Amino acid sequence: SNQAETLEFQAEARQLLQLVVHSIYSNKDVFLRELISNASDALDKLRLATLVDKDLVADTDDLHVVLEVDRDARTLTVRDNGIGMTRDEVVQLIGTIAKSGTAELLRQLRESADAHAKQDLIGQFGVGFYAAFMVADRVTLVTRKAGETGGTRWESTGEGTYSIEAVDEAPQGTAVTLHLKPADTEDNLHDYTAEWTVREIVKRYSDFIAWPIRMTVERPGAEGEPATSEVQTLNSMKALWARPRDEVDAAEYNEFYKHVSHDWADPLEVVHMKGEGTFEYEALLFLPSHAPLDLFSPQGRRGVQLYVKRVFIMDDCEALVPTYLRFVKGVVDAHDLSLNISREILQQDRQIQIVRRRLVKKVLATVKDLKANHAERYRTFWTEFGAVVKEGLIDDTDNRDTLLDILSVASTNDPAEPTDLAGYVARMKDGQSDIWYATGESRAAIENSPHLEAFRAKGHEVLLLTDQVDEVWVERVGTYDGRPLRSIAKGEIDLDTDEEKQQAEAEREQQRQEFAGLLDWLGTTLTDSVREVRLSSRLTTSPACVVGDAHDLTPTLEKMYRAMGH
Ligand code: ADP
Ligand code: MG
Repeated sequence: SNQAETLEFQAEARQLLQLVVHSIYSNKDVFLRELISNASDALDKLRLATLVDKDLVADTDDLHVVLEVDRDARTLTVRDNGIGMTRDEVVQLIGTIAKSGTAELLRQLRESADAHAKQDLIGQFGVGFYAAFMVADRVTLVTRKAGETGGTRWESTGEGTYSIEAVDEAPQGTAVTLHLKPADTEDNLHDYTAEWTVREIVKRYSDFIAWPIRMTVERPGAEGEPATSEVQTLNSMKALWARPRDEVDAAEYNEFYKHVSHDWADPLEVVHMKGEGTFEYEALLFLPSHAPLDLFSPQGRRGVQLYVKRVFIMDDCEALVPTYLRFVKGVVDAHDLSLNISREILQQDRQIQIVRRRLVKKVLATVKDLKANHAERYRTFWTEFGAVVKEGLIDDTDNRDTLLDILSVASTNDPAEPTDLAGYVARMKDGQSDIWYATGESRAAIENSPHLEAFRAKGHEVLLLTDQVDEVWVERVGTYDGRPLRSIAKGEIDLDTDEEKQQAEAEREQQRQEFAGLLDWLGTTLTDSVREVRLSSRLTTSPACVVGDAHDLTPTLEKMYRAMGH
């Protein structure tokens, strides 16, 4: 009955595996971080499951990770006694990639010819378990779900298929055994069966893991004595978020970030805070250095991890961060919550709302500080996440002023350098009362628009807004620093001083008489298409342009609504 079956990886998984197997990813050591991270997650899940389900029969006395090496067989095993997987779960979780953003990743991989760019993409996506195939030519996984009797054995060479079979005896949890590629090949610099190597990698990447990571180490005997062996714990197990900030170094923050975010790149910025008083909490949040592929997908992951007094409660806790900060990663450890708390209740919990408000303020203050003091990092941040942060201008009225301060947008002032609103105001001409903006699909599209001409001629700066969200927030926000935000494509535009106006009025009266016949004729001819034909002062080189009323939709919005079927 325990016959092995051979199954195929899902197509996406196969493509990803191919890339991993032939990977030139320079830092192959990270495979161990990925496997330990999974083991740690499995231990978290088991502890939570036994807290929530009192009937679950599982062994939780000594939850840990063990690393076992066999130098002769050239294997390395990562074993945990955590939640384990059922057969179906193995097929689902290991044989397929359910992660959102996969389709986008594969599209970009197909379109990219450059091997290094491909490696970067893999790093951004985080290949997780499959990283094992960077160093192993065969991987065996034996697992038993906590509370169940039979186990499952899975094995693959990473080449399109895997075998899977039931096993009668298996310890609770999961053991992943890597049959290592030859140690001396040029792309396999480290011998992962060497104690020293393994110890170093664990220290570097997984020191903060909350569970003991153990290994049996050999000690040569003193003269005449036989060698001995002892079990050592390789990591310090200190919850990073609970440690004082000045005792944590950048490398530790970076590795912790990679563990919670599944990102392979370092974070851009760390936000480490502590709340005392009636509701105690610690938060360790990160601003990533690049946008995830699923940033704009409705299935995208959002939110941070929630812990209660060091006990992992949930991933992707949306209640703790607003959607416009959905890219923020990290951990919040709230001390006074019930371990059984559900997502629904969290959304309404008053304490959680208070924490959330503080987190938002702190994150925005961090961005503000980047903007003031670290221009390069701020620019990276805004390029990657600006379009999302601007969503906050629509309904987070509490933080609107801060959001307006940290905003930057392209402008006609300097094609290479975006501006903030304060910069725009500082450059406003004498007598200019409005902040002018233009919206469109791209900078080029806007710059070709005849609406810009008069502004150019007068030397008035115009903000160039090209994100979809821009039209919505400028409408909603209305003013900055008491000055109206106005579209150059709407309503009667008046850029002249009083003196210029009188002079212009005289000229125009003359022109009106001169062109009365033409305007009349145009008005009658175009009667079905336009409301009115009038002489304009806003054009300098184009002969004519179409304008909306002040309360009309802008052309982009009109197009958007039409596309939506309105
Ligand atoms: P990720 O950790 O980002 O979800 P991985 O590729 O690392 O992606 O792992 C895929 C999934 O396989 C995990 O989400 C988990 O459900 C399951 N898994 C992997 N390793 C283990 C393990 N040691 N114990 C239990 N489940 C595991
Ligand atoms: Mg993982």
